[in-house]
Amino acid sequence: MKKTYMRAAVILVCAALVGGIAGYSFYKKRHFKEDIVQGENVTEVFNLSRYNPNLEGTAGDTEVYVLKGEKEGGSLVVLGSTHANEPAGHMAGIVLEENAKVNAGTIYVIPSINHSALTHNDALDGSPQYMHFTTQSGETRTFQYGSRATNPIDQWPDPDIYTHKSSGQTLSGSETRNLNRCYPGVENGTLSEEVAYAVTNMINTLGIDMEIDLHESSPEYAVNNATVAHERAMTIASEGVLDLQLEGIQMSLEPSPVTLHGLTHRELGDYTHTYALLMETGNPSQGRLRGRTDEELVLTGKDPCYVIANDLGLLYVDYSSGEFPIELRVGRHLAGISAYIDAYNNNSDADKQIDVEGIPAYDEMLSNGVGYYLK
Ligand SMILES: [Zn+2]
Repeated sequence: MKKTYMRAAVILVCAALVGGIAGYSFYKKRHFKEDIVQGENVTEVFNLSRYNPNLEGTAGDTEVYVLKGEKEGGSLVVLGSTHANEPAGHMAGIVLEENAKVNAGTIYVIPSINHSALTHNDALDGSPQYMHFTTQSGETRTFQYGSRATNPIDQWPDPDIYTHKSSGQTLSGSETRNLNRCYPGVENGTLSEEVAYAVTNMINTLGIDMEIDLHESSPEYAVNNATVAHERAMTIASEGVLDLQLEGIQMSLEPSPVTLHGLTHRELGDYTHTYALLMETGNPSQGRLRGRTDEELVLTGKDPCYVIANDLGLLYVDYSSGEFPIELRVGRHLAGISAYIDAYNNNSDADKQIDVEGIPAYDEMLSNGVGYYLK
């Protein structure tokens, strides 16, 4: 009898210890303050809650970095971390606001658009919590690696079936925390809907001309190394895609499906006057065929399982190099942003131009790496 009690006590203590360590780790991630540095050419930083006060003081509020040129012109908003487990978008947003200098027009950068999704990760998928980069001065900077969905601490419980408000489209319950199924959003809705509403309202209020949403997808997913464009943005997107292909960057063009609701490229195109674009890069750390999922896989994209998948012809990206490093994925996003700005300028009046310098070129990013461009 005494032995049984002893055994139970030992098991209880072990469980409390494991629970305590895990709880501390989750708590630390939840409250981790990312060291996003304000770029020297950033002219203003404001909170997204300016466009939906319901976000004030919530994990859904996030910083908007403004790069406004001396000359008037057109405007662009760039969204990173719509899906917070797609880090190339997050890092491309940060590199953009820390390095770009806008001479004419305005660029708004929101590197952490689903801020709540960055505060947790998919622990059962074995995904890492953080990513680290070494800057030119040898300093280490730490960034959040998050989840595809809003943190359940901020939005719970999920319904059995998620009904998209403005279309009535139904999806599985967990999609209620997928920001990219919540546009155009609801002013007083779930946290994800309120974030989406703020973006729609910001674009409408400021009359933002173009919007680019940065994503990554698993190499076995058909929409990959692709740009998805709303029908009004097709001219700009097709010109940009041609430019990228001439640069040797593999990019395909996909029309935004008319009947698939809640996504930026559909709803921001329908509910605002912006040219809505979304970019995808291949990322093995997201795929179902991947092996061990750690920070190294996120940063290098090296996975032997994907080498086999590539040999079997199962992938939609060229994985013959056996890697898909973060500098390649961030470089693709930045090259895309530059190409779509050029295409936008070609199709816009002289007083609506966007003139920007300092965005790292694709080849530079490939040879220097992401850390080189972090302050
Ligand atoms: Zn995504």
